[in-house]
Amino acid sequence: MTTQSFHPPERTLMGPGPSDVHPRILEALSRPTIGHLDPVFVEMMEEVKGLLQYAFRTENRLTLPVSAPGSAGMEMCFVNLVEPGDQVIVCKNGVFGNRMQENVERCGGTAILVEDEWGSPVDPAKVEEALKANPDAKVVAFVHAETSTGAQSDAATLCGLAREHGCLTIVDTVTSLGGTPVEVDAWGADAVYSGTQKCLSCTPGLSPVTFSERAVEAIGNRKTKVQSWFLDLNLVMGYWGNEGGAKRAYHHTAPINPLYALHEALVILREEGLENAWARHARMHEALKAGIEAMGLSFFVDEAHRLPQLNSVTIPEGVDEARVRSRLLEQYNLEIGAGLGPMAGKIWRIGLMGHSASATNILNCLGALDAVLS
Ligand code: PLP
Repeated sequence: MTTQSFHPPERTLMGPGPSDVHPRILEALSRPTIGHLDPVFVEMMEEVKGLLQYAFRTENRLTLPVSAPGSAGMEMCFVNLVEPGDQVIVCKNGVFGNRMQENVERCGGTAILVEDEWGSPVDPAKVEEALKANPDAKVVAFVHAETSTGAQSDAATLCGLAREHGCLTIVDTVTSLGGTPVEVDAWGADAVYSGTQKCLSCTPGLSPVTFSERAVEAIGNRKTKVQSWFLDLNLVMGYWGNEGGAKRAYHHTAPINPLYALHEALVILREEGLENAWARHARMHEALKAGIEAMGLSFFVDEAHRLPQLNSVTIPEGVDEARVRSRLLEQYNLEIGAGLGPMAGKIWRIGLMGHSASATNILNCLGALDAVLS
């Protein structure tokens, strides 16, 4: 067994996440660990909640980071809102829609599937049809930014349709938060989760979530106990508190230093300004696109539905795609992503997320890709 410390290489992360972590965030991680009920820490928790409200564009009081990765935020939304026997309309246009279906079924609910081609957005007309055909449906669940393809769906329209039919919504914004507009209150979304390792450029392992008053009411009206003790919002709230510090009680030991990191990531976002961050991602996408197209390569997703932060590039005929990725990693310390599931071997996924969405990274990536492909 080794007795040596682990020192990872310095990579440039331009895959589907994690993205490059800002040095200020890495520094924040190394600050002294204090107790999870220390009044100073509790004050910082309140700031994190306020900063997350800013990032999600919401006034929702129930806004907090789950102490686990994006998949746990997803699971928190499903286990709290879906009870055995509930019908949930699940929109599937990539890997993460599949995972939503798994969640519904594991909660004892019935998933009513609305399927679209991988690379296309969720079709609101199909969702409307499903809502009309299933008047008892309780929830509509969809992924705003499908990381497996790079397609963005129209969250405002989908949430509006769900509301018209008396349904709650569960929305995945893991890849969108901080990169493209996420407007929780304007959309009227009910349960929204994200991740820290994409456009927030924080380390992986935390999942910001936010719940509307309608969602809180639905959780309060449950007939059964939430099957997950760890993710039961009624219990987690006891620690994160709705109104402030006074009544907080131990639920689990919070990941203290990762929360310093998230705080720093959100301060950086606030300094830049949310709209400026969205504009930077859009500008960087345009720059990457110019270079990719100049190399004779093309994008997998239609321009109208393309995510600036996740660029799916079609792999040219006859190219050994895995060899390209491994050469980029070995020779240029550059990570880009492979295709997932049915997209394996068909696309590369080039991330421009958070701190990774910079002109320097784009120039390095285009230069390295050109060298490896020629
Ligand atoms: N949802 C989407 C759209 C994602 O891209 C990811 C991760 O890539 C997840 C959920 C799961 O997040 P995590 O890997 O942090 O558990």
